[in-house]
Amino acid sequence: MNGSWPTSPWIRAFSNSGSCPRTVERFLSLAYLGHRKQAIAKLCDASGGKTVDDLSRFCCHNQDCRDHGQRGADNLTVCMRYGKHQHLRLLYCRSCKARFSERQGTPLFGAKLETAKMVSVLDHVSEGCGVRKTSRLIGVHRDTVSRYSLLAGEHAQDLHDVLVAFSPQTREVQFDEKWAFVGKKQKHCDPGDPADSEQGDNWDHVAFDPTHRLVVSVVPGKRTAVKTDALVKNVHMRTGGRMLDLLVSDEYPAYKPAILHTYGETITPPRTGKPGRPKKPYTVAPAGLLYATVHKTRYKGRVVHVEPRIVFGEEDAVRAALAASPVSTALNTAFVERHHGTDRNRNGRKVRRTACFSKDWQVHNAVTYFTMYSYNFCWPVRTLRVRQTEGGWQKRTPAMAAGLADHVWSLTEWLTFPVVQLK
Ligand SMILES: [Zn+2]
Repeated sequence: MNGSWPTSPWIRAFSNSGSCPRTVERFLSLAYLGHRKQAIAKLCDASGGKTVDDLSRFCCHNQDCRDHGQRGADNLTVCMRYGKHQHLRLLYCRSCKARFSERQGTPLFGAKLETAKMVSVLDHVSEGCGVRKTSRLIGVHRDTVSRYSLLAGEHAQDLHDVLVAFSPQTREVQFDEKWAFVGKKQKHCDPGDPADSEQGDNWDHVAFDPTHRLVVSVVPGKRTAVKTDALVKNVHMRTGGRMLDLLVSDEYPAYKPAILHTYGETITPPRTGKPGRPKKPYTVAPAGLLYATVHKTRYKGRVVHVEPRIVFGEEDAVRAALAASPVSTALNTAFVERHHGTDRNRNGRKVRRTACFSKDWQVHNAVTYFTMYSYNFCWPVRTLRVRQTEGGWQKRTPAMAAGLADHVWSLTEWLTFPVVQLK
């Protein structure tokens, strides 16, 4: 630094305020660029002239604390800095006097690797690089890539529970399954060999909100009715149990009983008073339930004709739902199928005819959760962009469109957002 202003009392007070050195450096750089007064005023206004720690995203992890899980409750302070470069903050809860790292509840907690390097590993994984590619590009062992992929998968599930626990704007859902495999193709698996139980086909059961391009839920694993049931139940839970405007899926037969089981009403026939066994209770589709499938006709492997078939609901009601939908003009699963393409681009394991295919079942599932759920917050979707009044376009992610975020999250932001399991 040179020039007269670094010796000014503003800068001395500012540098000695205990602020993060990187933040001080960034604001000083801004000042050098001709925004000195604005930068200092911004910093001092935001911090009351003392600190620049924004703790609104953190919360107390102590389950016995009255502020457990409450973000922005103003109960946290920074009590010390630690780490090789004093770059990590130890937080102190005024309510319960507990201390914990700012990394607690993130996949970076306890990591020996530098934050930037770890984020870079996961950035490569979410941009379609395989384990060995990432290992060579970043200069880490391939087991490190797999280990962090597993941690990112766990974080993705927990963070999805925190951030997309309740998606009130979702009005319609498309269901579909995306094929992938682990280790070897299903035809080479031996059903009698327990070692092959976690090899072969692995399907992503996806529930997709076409209006906001939001992945509402994903359940990876074998293509079974149990997984389909879990998927539909998860959507029901995340949408607050209310009736959605329209449900569409392919002709996979497991959806009909799963939807009926989840959304249906149980009718108990009245006792007739006559002798004999009383009639058993049965489930019927409620009046507002609209569910349709698409019947695809293929010729030499290519889809040549798509014919919608209404399973629950009346044709007039489906027509009204389509007219009210901001995106759907016909019954189809086009939006979720387009998302399959995006996910195959983001997840190197699911690229067709690749040597990067998965070799481990758990890592495969973890990377599925990681790429599918980080997509919601970190992946701007071209067709969701909106024109700004001052000209140009504003990029929007599915989470922004669904009202769950106000900006495009960086992967670092997504990875360092702490999750806490509420009681
Ligand atoms: Zn506390």
